[in-house]
Amino acid sequence: MTNKKVCVRFAPSPTGPLHIGGVRTALFNYLYAKKSGGKFLVRIEDTDKKREVSGAENYIIESLKWCGIEADQEPRRQSERKDIYNEHVLLLLKEGKAYYAFDTEEELLKLRENKESKGEVFIYNWRNRNSLNNSLCLDEKEVQKKIENKEKYVVRFRCPRESEVKTSDIVRGDSSIDSSLLDDKILVKADGMPTYHFANVVDDYLMGITHVIRGEEWLPSLALHTLLYEAFGWKSPKYAHLPLILNPNGKGKLSKRSGEKNGFPVFPIRWKGEKEVLGFKEIGIMPEALVNYISTLGWAPDETKEILSLSELKGLFSLEKVVSSSANFDFEKLKWYNHQHIQKTQNDELLRILQNTKKDCNYNVVKLKVAIGLVKERASTVNELWELSEYLFAGPNSYDEKSLKKILKPGGKQILETIISLADSESEQADLFVERVKKSCVDKGFSAGQIMMTLRVVLVGALHGIDLQEIVSFIGLKDASSRAKEALSKLF
Ligand code: GLU
Repeated sequence: MTNKKVCVRFAPSPTGPLHIGGVRTALFNYLYAKKSGGKFLVRIEDTDKKREVSGAENYIIESLKWCGIEADQEPRRQSERKDIYNEHVLLLLKEGKAYYAFDTEEELLKLRENKESKGEVFIYNWRNRNSLNNSLCLDEKEVQKKIENKEKYVVRFRCPRESEVKTSDIVRGDSSIDSSLLDDKILVKADGMPTYHFANVVDDYLMGITHVIRGEEWLPSLALHTLLYEAFGWKSPKYAHLPLILNPNGKGKLSKRSGEKNGFPVFPIRWKGEKEVLGFKEIGIMPEALVNYISTLGWAPDETKEILSLSELKGLFSLEKVVSSSANFDFEKLKWYNHQHIQKTQNDELLRILQNTKKDCNYNVVKLKVAIGLVKERASTVNELWELSEYLFAGPNSYDEKSLKKILKPGGKQILETIISLADSESEQADLFVERVKKSCVDKGFSAGQIMMTLRVVLVGALHGIDLQEIVSFIGLKDASSRAKEALSKLF
């Protein structure tokens, strides 16, 4: 017998921007589908209209696109499938596996308060459901009348009493829970919309989902979902609950606040909510690096190679290698991955990314591409390519204090004058310039160290940057001379 073709889904609720944890869930689903030759679908779980945030759905789709995680079909939206859920809840109602509950908010609040006053918790289930305001204890006509009179009601799941619910999870193994501890969850709300649990199970079944891969926070729902499958007589999919992603210090779930505190984003791209927040894209992280790094949060391939492209990851991924222990988010590690991916990327492509992020860039494109090639080995973000090559396009506006201390010494002025006269002499060739300056100044009795430092500070503004000769070859002798003249007038 052949196995059913793998079909997985990412099912975000549009209640805000897609968090890095959500990207990881989408990625693992996508990788699993691709590794197994199956399908990856996206389903927007938007039945909770009160919590919906405008723009979130679009943001989620755009973020996935940026990450290269593409669905095999157009996303489906639960809010457009109300009739389907209603048909399905009728099946459960008919079989007595669900019931109408007319209890008002006030009645339920009273019941809750009453229990709380005794230090107990109110649970709507088999213990009390036969004495509450629902179709299990009201007679049929009365129920019909209430519905006709448009009295508010919800539909609840009649959770079986005293049965052992066996659950199975690829990451965490098997476990079981006594159903009498569970409550009779609402399946359809008073506004006629299904709850997350109900729509989620119905859709997973109707979409032919074979594996549900989602965050650990949904583990407590697994027993209810398993019971719903049983109630319908459906075979339940396989489950894999992914471990939590924690803040860098290992304390608590990775949060936007912790990102803000530690200076890193938690969203893939810019979120234009009430307050605009930058994403990884805007700070210069490449999608390939983000995907490579987050693939390591809870999973590790057999092989030791760390830098992997999305298509390599597709070939390696396996759910069996997902671990149950939480992973700490480490921004420095992400930057390291980004650095490695920058080295692997063609300069043309880096130029394209840079131009996209810096729309106001009016540098000569050919020169910018050369500059990228010169500085990329020092860059851990794409934006740094920009910062690191700034001095290749313009002389320093100011000079770094510490660096100045090293060059404002006796002889400094003479070194500078030698630099200027060599740069201005027509016979001078840019490619040999640094060696010539060095030789000429050494002949005058200055140390090689002082000469090189002076030239660097004059050209760059500080004691950092790429090889000096490369700088001079790039900017040309005319520019080198004017930078040196500027320094002479400002510093000596
Ligand atoms: N809508 C749920 C969420 O926002 C989906 C959970 C699941 O995958 O079952 O995470």
